[in-house]
Order: sequence, then structure tokens, then C-alpha cells
Amino acid sequence: MSAVRVTVLLPLPFDHPFDYALPDGMALCAGDLVSVPLGKRMVVGAVWDDAPHTTLADGASVRLKEVAAKLDAPALPDDLRQFIDWVAHYTMAPRGAVLALALKANLLAPVGLTRGSRRAAVAQPNPDFPGPVLSAAQAQEAARLQALVQARDFSVTLLEGVTGSGKTEVYLEAVATALRGGRQALLLLPEIALSAQFTARLAARFGAAPAVWHSALSPAQRRATWRGVAGGQGVAGGRISLVLGARSALFLPFADLGVVIVDEEHEAAYKQEDGVIYHARDMAVVRARLAGCAAILASATPSLESSVNAAQGRYRHGVLAGRHGGAAAPMIETVDLRLAPPERGRFLSPVVIEAMTAALAGGAQAMLFLNRRGYAPLMLCRRCGHRVSCPNCTAWLVAHRARDRLLCHHCGHTIQVPTQCPSCKAAESLVPIGPGVERIAEEVQAVLPQARQLLMTSDAIGSAAQAQAAVGAIEAGSVDVVIGTQMMAKGWHFPNLTLVGVVDADLGLAGGDLRAAERSAQLLHQVAGRVGRAEQPGRALLQTYQPDHPVMQALASGDLAGFRTAEADLRRPGHWPPFGRLAALIVTADEAEAVTAACRALAMQAPMQAGLVVLGPAPAPFAMLRGRHRWRFLLKAERRVPVQAVLRDWLARVPLPRSVRIIIDIDPISFL
Ligand code: ADP
Ligand code: ZN
Repeated sequence: MSAVRVTVLLPLPFDHPFDYALPDGMALCAGDLVSVPLGKRMVVGAVWDDAPHTTLADGASVRLKEVAAKLDAPALPDDLRQFIDWVAHYTMAPRGAVLALALKANLLAPVGLTRGSRRAAVAQPNPDFPGPVLSAAQAQEAARLQALVQARDFSVTLLEGVTGSGKTEVYLEAVATALRGGRQALLLLPEIALSAQFTARLAARFGAAPAVWHSALSPAQRRATWRGVAGGQGVAGGRISLVLGARSALFLPFADLGVVIVDEEHEAAYKQEDGVIYHARDMAVVRARLAGCAAILASATPSLESSVNAAQGRYRHGVLAGRHGGAAAPMIETVDLRLAPPERGRFLSPVVIEAMTAALAGGAQAMLFLNRRGYAPLMLCRRCGHRVSCPNCTAWLVAHRARDRLLCHHCGHTIQVPTQCPSCKAAESLVPIGPGVERIAEEVQAVLPQARQLLMTSDAIGSAAQAQAAVGAIEAGSVDVVIGTQMMAKGWHFPNLTLVGVVDADLGLAGGDLRAAERSAQLLHQVAGRVGRAEQPGRALLQTYQPDHPVMQALASGDLAGFRTAEADLRRPGHWPPFGRLAALIVTADEAEAVTAACRALAMQAPMQAGLVVLGPAPAPFAMLRGRHRWRFLLKAERRVPVQAVLRDWLARVPLPRSVRIIIDIDPISFL
């Protein structure tokens, strides 16, 4: 008996699809979801070969297990399958691991209409809902974007404009165009905490809320959205036309994508740092190319990558100059901590305290920004100088007052605050060193006891609902001072916020990695952009010991374009990104000797060719993380070098024991 073979990709860490036999009477197309036996269990996978399937010779089929069932679920569209293949090839992750990102909706659960998918015929976003009347400059840019969406062809636009210039209003016109054409729109945000405010904004703009997609959804919500995006078979309310999502939304089975928007495109949060390591901004562009639609990357402080792509003509460059309605750009000033130092044991300069006092007296709100969770980044013994560190990581334990514990921010290791020094055993000798946001809150309580304060950190605000409550409190004016980490820096819009103080503007410059200056400039500009968004002018004060640093100078003068040009000039000669490419190879194992032995073996076989340099091996800055030892290689290559092929070839030449794990990070942005 001859039989027909189908190949099925499983959402497991295998690169290759598995062969199964097609049962009599079953018809399958590429992308169909099927359940198949794997060992003793059943797994849901996707048919990966394009028909026609291979017919096997008599007898050959005996060894193949049969497909158990075809699922009652929409098939993965061709462009999504191509996308999965592409991402796997580029990131060097197994294809199955990438498929797992697309099948996260847990389709194994009972199929058919689950409760979550029985959406009442909810209103769909209505593209003809009246939006604001755009200014001439906004309208011109909107028209260009609309034409690109209508072209139904791949394009990328870098949409640049200061915060408050109306980028969002402008790209929402492109969304409206896609929806009007019966197509779908995907809007990516770097941080799910932002989705609450954004959902409300989209609901106001289009008369109905978008579907949201992020990791905090319930399985039922996921299933409903997944199916609704694919085409709405069996889903009341029809096909979902607008999705607001985190990076994983790129893997949704859009039936007819009309536009992909990446807001705050410069954000490092778009990089997925574990599992499949990918940059969602870059992959959004690939997704748009495979779908044949427009991509829009929006930012007030574009990444050097996107700026260079725009300058070289690969991306269209749309620019919105100035804030809408004449709202003034925030005045950014440096506060030289050498000239106006805080009181002993305190962290706020009198200049900042005075400005806060004045803002509050005028009925406005103020914000303090410090990118450090907890009370103090480190506990030090006054007697012997011992610093309390994590046993599993190369890191200090961070003091958290709210929990009254010390906590490792890398592995979660936590201990009670020791009553004596772990090293010299002196009693009550440990003192907190440096500020975290909790300590700043304490200082605000001391200097402005009347002020009602709110902490916005991932410790205090863990869910979208909590974020929404916090945002509501700020909007309602029941908060005077917001103290926050980077969570606070992103796209929020608070009309009554007129002052922001950056507690330690030098913090991001310390790391010394390739993008430290670029990232600091982006973050601080973004933070400053939180103020003065309505009628009242805003002011941003940067506490710094380096007021002459190019980053502080660029921020104070507002010449970020000049700063980017200078940055580009620094990176171009050495082929540093974006003028060349990097790939990191991280070698990890439980035993230090296993890591060094593996590094020695890899170093002996390191690729040597023109346009390529292998740096390392060297212990990673976090030489130990979660109990594992880590060393790094860094490949630096000119753009023409096929980095993936070089890496594949290198690794194939070096057999490594199973105890050693290699993590490949193409285009790394973190060098820890
Ligand atoms: P960006 O995304 O560049 O920060 P937004 O699109 O969020 O800017 O616009 C900033 C604020 O100005 C928002 O409250 C927005 O609704 C408002 N705004 C922008 N353009 C207009 C316009 N043409 N008419 C009315 N309000 C506008
Ligand atoms: Zn740790």
C-alpha cells in the first residue's frame, strides 16, 4: 500500500519538521494545524511542506505514524510560515522554537467555541470615526502614509517628531486607511504597561477598543484573539482588524495585514533577550516585507540604525517638526551636582527641591526619575567594607524597603536584611549605599511632607490593571509627585505634569557599552518629553556630575540630530553597528572549567576571514548568572559577511559536551 507523507513542524526546539503519514480521507494544506503523536504524547504542530505531499513507495509508510487529527482552527497563513522560517534562519534559533511563539495560544485546549471566544458581536474599530483636524504638516505626512498603505506594497517609513508633535495621530490615519480597505493593522508598543492608556486612546479615536496581545492574557483571551485575527472562523464579532500588542504580536496569524507600526522604535525593550533572541523592530520590518505592506517606525529619538537607514534612502523619512498646538518643547537644563550638591546623605539638589516646591505650589505635578528599583543598589559594611552580593550572580543584592529584604535583580535570590555583617560579623554595621526609587520617595516625604506621592516601578505596579489605576490617579490629580523608573519614561501623556527631575542623569553612561551614550540620550529625552505636554510649559532638570558630556550638551541644546551625526562618525570607521554587524556567542555551564575548556576549543577554531574579527573569549560582565558561569565571544563583521553561516560553520567544527550551552545573540544590544 502506498501512502502520502506530510511534514509537520512541532513547537519544540527542533529545527526540522517531522514526517507523518496522511490518513485515508484526510486532506491537509500547508499551514494546517494538526495533532500528531510524538513518543507517548500528542502534540499540535503545523503542516510545513507545500502541497503536493510526497507519495511514499509501498512499505515505506509502515514506519511513519499517522497524523491523528486536523484541528478545527485556522491554518497558519503562508506569510506567517515564511516569517517563522526567516526569523529562525536569522536568529539561528530552531524553527520549532520560533513556531512556539506563534502557537502560544495553546491550541491543544478544547477546540470549538470556548467561553472566551464567544465574543458578543463587539463593535469593531470604525475607521470613519472622526479624528482630530490635522495641522497642515501633519495632514501632509498622513497623506503620504495613507498612500503607502493603499499601495499594498512593502515600504518602511521612519516617522520622526518630538514627543507631542502628533506622530500618533498621524500614524492612526494610516491605520484608518488599512481598516477602510478591509485590512488589518498591528500597532506594537515596547511595554505592556502602556497598553491601558493606549487602548483608551484608540477606543476614543475609532469608537471601539482594539484587541490587545501580550503575555499577561488568559488562555481563553489568547485563543479568542488568535482566532479572531486569523479570520474569525467560529468567532462571533468577525475578524479582528486592529491589534495593539507587545513584540510577540508579530507572530499572530494575520489574514490580511495592511500596516505594521512600531511605536518608540528605538526602545531596547523590543529586544527579546531569552529563548528566541530577536529584535521586534527589525522583525516587524521583515513581517511587513513578507506581508507586502507598509511599516512605520515612530520615535522622537530614532535609533542610529533607523536614522542611518533613512539617511541612506532605504527607509522613507517623515518628519514632524515642533509640538502640536504650539505646546513648547520642555526646557532641559543640567544641574551640576558639584555646584549644587544635595545635603549629606540625601540625593536631591536644592535646585530640584525648589523647582518641585514651586511646581506643586502652582497646582502642577512633578516627577522624579531614577532608573533603579528598590531602596538602595547595595549594602555595605561600615566596619570592613564588605558588600552583600548574590551567591548565584556577579551582582550586589539590592535593598528593598517595601519588602524589608535584599533581592538579586537577576536571579530573584532573596534574603532577610542581615543583622550582622556576613564577613566580619559586626552587628548592625550594614548601611545602604546610593539611592533607589524607594529612598527617593523617603526623601520627598522628608522635604515635601504634604505632597501625595506615587511610586511607578515594576515592583509597585505589576499588572496592566495596576498601571491603569496609577495612570487614573495621576490624571485625576490625586497625586502630586510621581517617582518612577524607566516604566515612567515611555509614551505617557499627563497634561498637568510640568516638572521632571532626573536624579542621576549619569547612570546610563557608566556601562561603557557601544550604545551607552545613544541610549542615555534617548531615555533622558524621553523622560523630559513627559512634561509640558499641554498648555503649561515644562521643565526638565538633569542632575549630573558631567554637565559637559556630549549627551548632556545635546539634551540641553536640543541638538539630538547633531549628536546622532557625531555618534555615527564614531562608529563608522570601525564598522560598529549600524555600519557593520555584531553577533555574540555566550558560553555557559554549571562548572567554570567546562566553560573555559569550551572557550579554548572554540578559540582554536575561531573563523578567520576578511571583514571579520572575533573578540574574546572573555568572562561576561555577569561572569556568573543564576548559578551558571558565562564567557563571551563577540564577532564583529562588515555588512557583507554572512554572519549566520560563519557561526554555523564554526560551531559545527567544535564538538562540545552537553553540559555546555551556547547562546547566540545576533545584533546584540546587551553586552552583559
Ligand atoms: P506624539 O505621538 O508625537 O507624542 P501625539 O500624537 O500623542 O504626539 O500628540 C500629542 C497630543 O496632541 C495628543 O494629546 C494629541 O491628541 C494632540 N494632538 C496632536 N495633533 C493634534 C491635532 N491635529 N488636533 C488636536 N489634537 C492633536
Ligand atoms: Zn542572583
